[in-house]
Amino acid sequence: MSTLHYWNYPTEIFCGAGALDLLAQRCALAGMRRPLLVTDPGMLELPPLRAVRAHLDAQGVDYALFHGLSGNPSLDEARAGARVFADGQHDSLIALGGGSALDAAKGIALLSRDPHGLERFEWAQMLEHFPTLADYPALGLPALIAIPTTAGTGSELGREAVLTDTVQGVKKVIGHRELLARCVILDPALTTGLPAKLTAATGMDALTHHLEALFSPLHHPMSAGIAVEGVRQVKLHLENAVRDGNDLVAREGMLVASASAAVAFQKGLGGAHALAHPLGARHHLHHGLLNAVLLPYVLLANRSAIESDAARLARYLELDDASFDGLLAWVLELRGRVGIPDTLAELGLTGEDAALIGELALADISSSETNALPLTAADYSRIYRNAVAGKLI
Ligand SMILES: [Zn+2]
Repeated sequence: MSTLHYWNYPTEIFCGAGALDLLAQRCALAGMRRPLLVTDPGMLELPPLRAVRAHLDAQGVDYALFHGLSGNPSLDEARAGARVFADGQHDSLIALGGGSALDAAKGIALLSRDPHGLERFEWAQMLEHFPTLADYPALGLPALIAIPTTAGTGSELGREAVLTDTVQGVKKVIGHRELLARCVILDPALTTGLPAKLTAATGMDALTHHLEALFSPLHHPMSAGIAVEGVRQVKLHLENAVRDGNDLVAREGMLVASASAAVAFQKGLGGAHALAHPLGARHHLHHGLLNAVLLPYVLLANRSAIESDAARLARYLELDDASFDGLLAWVLELRGRVGIPDTLAELGLTGEDAALIGELALADISSSETNALPLTAADYSRIYRNAVAGKLI
């Protein structure tokens, strides 16, 4: 008997320079009368927020701004945003920013209908009570329009929010099918101010999403196809976007690579993310930067399971060496050319908490069934130590 699979595909996407001009119209079409605009405080003086506010003001949209977030948004920050949402009698959300703002907005959306939503729809609960997204109870969540200003997390096309539990020091993945944005605006002009270092780190995160999704053992041929083309988009555009932040073609290509990665990783993520989540929560390091450093070490750990898929991808990318080694060499070369360090030691990590990080990585959502190989806590500890020391074995 064949296996029954559950696949779920995304939403309306407007992509291209000037797409922001559609925002007020899309708000009206979605019935959004009083949206709460969620962004992170780093955005306050930056052109993307000015552009969005100028557009909303010119179009007479009645909205308020919430920016009480940190780089890794917490459960408490989402709760604070939900109080602002309720007190201001808002009916919808616009999220502008990187993954932090997008994830916080999703947390606010969930809390606006279910005060216990962050616990109820946390990943561990989800698996136990809701085997697929299709099993979730309808909540009637408020409409959300997502406008990314970075190209990396793909949160604009995801139905999950990653929020930090500051008490436990862990990142929690919270999901609901209604968290999918009603509309996504991918406007490369909003990403031109992203500094080269962040462009590199977020772009490498998108690459990690595509590769881990492709190498996940879950059966999802549509997502696998997106992952293969997504890697090619990164190959075409990441270096150009890092070199010239005003290159709109490269910026748009990376927005597409990033957003499509969120569709690809419906197939799952893997060991780089399993390690990056606890390392990010405990050491307050950038998620994309951690993945960028970890990726080659995890590829090597998974080598026996991914060699043929890696070779097929290397052929599609037209690498001279169409093999696992050729793909690994390309990843290392790209990583160096966009200025990412080779080791976690260069990010200040020593590996002294390797045993604990190994346990936490094993418990992470990205590790359970979707890493190419079933790694153990000891395997994760070893990969972490290798990544600290720069041992590519
Ligand atoms: Zn990621």
